Amino acid sequence: MPDTAQIPLTQSFPGLLLSARAGRRVLDGLEQTHARAREFAETHVRPRAMEIDRLAGSDPNHFPWEVVRAGLAYRMLSVLIPRQAGGVGGLLTHGVIVMEELCAACPGIANIFGAHALGACPLLVTGSIGHWDGLLREIADAELRGEPILMALAITEPEAGTDVEDTCLMRRARITSAARRVPGGYRLSGAKRFISNGSVARWITVFMPTDPRDPADTWTCFLLDSRSEGFSVSRVEHKMGQRACPAAELALDEVFVPDEAVIGRPGDGMPITLMTMATSRPGVAAIATGTARGAYERLLAWLQSTSDGGRLLERQHVQLALAEMHEEIHLARQAYMDAALVLDLEALGGTLRHPMMRLYNRIPVSWRRARPMRSLLSTPAAREAAASFLRRKTDARTATRSLAISSMAKARGADVAMRVSRRALEVVGLTDDPVRAELQKLWRDAKLTQIYEGTNQLNRLEVHRGLCAGDVMEIVPSARHRGAA
Ligand SMILES: Cc1cc2nc3c(=O)[nH]c(=O)nc-3n(C[C@H](O)[C@H](O)[C@H](O)COP(=O)(O)OP(=O)(O)OC[C@H]3O[C@@H](n4cnc5c(N)ncnc54)[C@H](O)[C@@H]3O)c2cc1C
Repeated sequence: MPDTAQIPLTQSFPGLLLSARAGRRVLDGLEQTHARAREFAETHVRPRAMEIDRLAGSDPNHFPWEVVRAGLAYRMLSVLIPRQAGGVGGLLTHGVIVMEELCAACPGIANIFGAHALGACPLLVTGSIGHWDGLLREIADAELRGEPILMALAITEPEAGTDVEDTCLMRRARITSAARRVPGGYRLSGAKRFISNGSVARWITVFMPTDPRDPADTWTCFLLDSRSEGFSVSRVEHKMGQRACPAAELALDEVFVPDEAVIGRPGDGMPITLMTMATSRPGVAAIATGTARGAYERLLAWLQSTSDGGRLLERQHVQLALAEMHEEIHLARQAYMDAALVLDLEALGGTLRHPMMRLYNRIPVSWRRARPMRSLLSTPAAREAAASFLRRKTDARTATRSLAISSMAKARGADVAMRVSRRALEVVGLTDDPVRAELQKLWRDAKLTQIYEGTNQLNRLEVHRGLCAGDVMEIVPSARHRGAA
């Protein structure tokens, strides 16, 4: 039913009732995660933010590996990796809190960790447990040894951006990549553009059709090892904002991936894309909120600590500006938290508590990681079982609403980040104080939040579909399996 008149309480305050029902499950570990993220941000991120922005601005290939390595001790690469795979086992609710903290210090450095989590999303939302015990465990184990393994996600192509993030637009998209079926797997060819972490990630979740004449129905998600023959980075962009995180163009020339590298079922790429967006957009909303907060905090500190600022702080119009910034940040935060709670407790709810999952967890890890088990989990029958389980656990209407709530938080948060960072710049004016350069950086950083994970226009179209029109999108793997070859 459309969210118009007589809205039930569950729709007015989606996160409130759900979290009350979930009790301690949401709160467990939340404060520790928050404290760890804040300590990492204040100790290793904030002090390096301006310098790394400058270095990456003059050389887009500059990458702050030393900051990523420092993040390993705080487990920044495994916040969302399930405990059964050796990770921290945080819900999305934990992930978004981490993103806000890191972004208040530096959105560019934060996005390295955000793009990494985005790369892992398809494995998480499809309950791809073979890969949890394979790649995700490898990432978590390497993190404990002090070795960073980064991920990225590649959907966008040179001629296809907004249209490959939406079911309806997909049918008209100009997709030029393709995966060709060969014995034992696929050969992937084509170009992917603007891929965050694309030049530094070891593993990339890549989307392409198995039949270029029918991309919508054969869109498929693959897990690609960037050391594979035929893979190369053709360009790293000169970025305006969030420069610490490189955006790369990737060239794939007949890159072989085995059958096991298919995430979900062949042809399930669009539901996986949409579920990934429902999961990642609260993260972008948190990135935007953190960016706005960073601008507000820097402005306030400057007003309180300098004589020029002190004079301004006595003016009512400056007090009003600060109050409005505070309001906007507070409300943007509630929106992303609501979206994360709905996603965690409703749209993705239940996956980890399935009896089969409990049974699987009883199997010793060494057996789970052995080849026969991995092969078994990638058989068509096992993929079909996982898809049918997801379908039973999450109805398409609930998932469509969750995507819309995530999109609403993302679009609003991004606009707040732009408004607050611009307003802060206007207040400091033409001061010579370094705060001006810091605020300029945050304004540049904020802009990207209106563009990636779908532009704000696309996000608002999804709010219309999911909340105004009450549509049902094909967001959980369908029963009518299209069985792309
Ligand atoms: C720095 C950076 C990092 C990125 N990181 C990643 C990444 O890690 N992985 C990845 O896959 N992609 C990534 N992207 C790509 C990003 O998701 C796309 O840029 C975005 O989806 C927009 O696509 P586009 O650039 O092709 O713009 P277009 O789709 O060409 O859109 C141009 C304009 O037209 C509007 N528009 C288009 N279609 C419609 C419509 N139907 N209705 C209304 N308005 C419309 C858009 O809102 C936009 O304002 C990144 C982009 C950037 C800039």
